[in-house]
Formats: sequence, structure tokens, C-alpha cells
Amino acid sequence: MAQLLTGKEVVAAMAEDMKARIERLAQQGVTPMLAIVRVGERPDDLSYERTAVKRAASLGIEVKKCVLDSLAPEVALSVSLQSINYDTAVHGCLMFRPLPTYMDEKAMCNELAAAKDVDGISMTSLASVFADGHEGFPPCTAEACVTMLDHYGIPITGKHVVVVGRSLVIGKPVAMMLLRRNASVTICHSRTENLEEITKSADIVICATGRPRAFGARYFSPGQTVLDVGINFDAHGSLCGDVDFDEVEPVVGAITPVPGGIGSVTTSTTMEHTVRAAELTLA
Ligand code: NDP
Repeated sequence: MAQLLTGKEVVAAMAEDMKARIERLAQQGVTPMLAIVRVGERPDDLSYERTAVKRAASLGIEVKKCVLDSLAPEVALSVSLQSINYDTAVHGCLMFRPLPTYMDEKAMCNELAAAKDVDGISMTSLASVFADGHEGFPPCTAEACVTMLDHYGIPITGKHVVVVGRSLVIGKPVAMMLLRRNASVTICHSRTENLEEITKSADIVICATGRPRAFGARYFSPGQTVLDVGINFDAHGSLCGDVDFDEVEPVVGAITPVPGGIGSVTTSTTMEHTVRAAELTLA
């Protein structure tokens, strides 16, 4: 039976650390505040917003919601982002994506000041991840993967990590972050040949493809650590990851469940970045 790498334990440890830091900020008259920017009423966004609001409240982080109509002009979003940039009470900003197709998403992401870009959506933040810089923040899900490995004491240095997926949200940044931590990283994608052979050869496999239960036992080997980033719905409407958990769990050494794995750590990472952004205003 594989070791279950649950998010709950990591979330609890992060909360303990954050509460002490938020207390210290309060002593200096600062309450961390996260702005949540949402365009429209997409069910996924609403669901994540509820989770984020609840998590923030449990920690003592304030939330400022900025909601725009689904047909709002791009300039309205731009104005909202600029007002967040200039609002000294706001320390971090989480903007739900995808934005409506008529908006220039890349341009909108780049409007956000790096210091408040707690989800790593601007080019400045991403450039820091790729160039070992210190501006902005890494994308939360990518950092959540690293935090998960660290929390459970899974060695990274010198290990072969295979990342399946090459998006700028997860695949590419997590590969760079693990490279910085001295892993040997292979990035795979939909055109990769012999994927099974490559994933089987890894010490750690990170699946971030958005393909429900696409990765069964034949992709894995004994002793591996598997991080399942996927948040998908199967044909029956059940929430599932990219990995076929029932098939893979008996094979590998350690695995994250879905739900209850990387997703919950991602939310805490957004909060941790907001606390850090608040601390940096005092530095
Ligand atoms: P994207 O669709 O942007 O990227 C998917 C990547 O997977 C692409 O690089 C694609 O390759 C690759 N891919 C697709 N199918 C295969 C396949 N059969 N074999 C190998 N590679 C494949 O998705 P995201 O990166 O945005 O999200 C990935 C998953 O993570 C989704 O399930 C999403 O819901 C979830 N997610 C989870 C979060 C969390 O907090 N846990 C946060 C954000 C997302 P190619 O480039 O060649 O097309």
C-alpha cells in the first residue's frame, strides 16, 4: 500500500505557520488582504472563490471581492486591476481564468503589479521562476507540488522527476522550481513518444494534463512518488485526477489523492503568498 500524501496535513502545518506570522503583522497594524477578481459567474470560479474565502477567514486574512459582469469591457477589468495595484490595503490578488475570450488575457495578467501577483500570472513573476529571480510569486499549484514533497520529506536533489504537462500554470513552472532544487527534470506532453517508459523511469512523477484517470498502472513502477495535479470530472460527473488512483496506488510508494491532495495545498499557498506580500510591505 502506498503512503497517502494528503493535503490536509500540509494545510494544517501551513496554517500554524501563517497564524503566527499574521499575529506578528497585526502587532504592526497590518491585516493581510487578498483581492479576488472574477469576471462572470462560472461555476468553477464560484466554487473556488467559496473555498478561498473560507480558508482566508479561518486564517484571519481579509478578502476584497471584485466582480465584473461576464460582458464587462476589457477596460473595466483594467481599471479594477489598476485600483488594486494602487490600494495599499490590498496585498495580493487572485484573478480567475480563463477570462472571457474577447479579452486579451495575457495583457490583463501583465497589468497586475508583480508585488501583488500572488498566483504568478504575470510575465514578471514567471520570468523570476525561469531566471531564478525574486520578483512576484510562482504559480501556486506549482509551488504546492514542491511544498507537498518537502512536507513529507521526499528527497528532490539528484532525483529524476518526470512532469507530464507543459502549461505555464503548472508543468513548466514546477519543472523549473524542481530544477532549481537540483532535480533532473524531464517534461512530457501530448506528443511525447514512449511516455510509459519515461514515467516508469522516474523517482517522482507529476501528472498535470487534465485527462481524467488517463494514467493507469502501466505508467508507474514500485517505489515512485506520484503527485496528481489534475482536477477533472469523469463521465459520471465524479471528481477525479489524471491518475487512476485505484489502479496506481497499490503499485507506487506514495501518491496524492484527488480530491484532498495538491488542490487544497494550492489554496493555502495563495494565502501564504498573500501573507508574504504583506510582510514585504514592511520590509
Ligand atoms: P492545460 O490544458 O493547459 O495543459 C495540459 C498539458 O497536458 C499540455 O501540456 C498537454 O500537452 C498535456 N497533455 C494533455 N494530454 C496528454 C496526454 N495524453 N499525455 C501527455 N500529455 C498530455 O492544463 P493545465 O496545465 O491548466 O491543467 C492541468 C490539470 O491540472 C487540469 O486537470 C486542471 O484542472 C488541473 N489544475 C489543478 C490545480 C490544482 O490546484 N490542483 C490548479 C490548476 C489546474 P500539449 O502541450 O502537447 O497539448
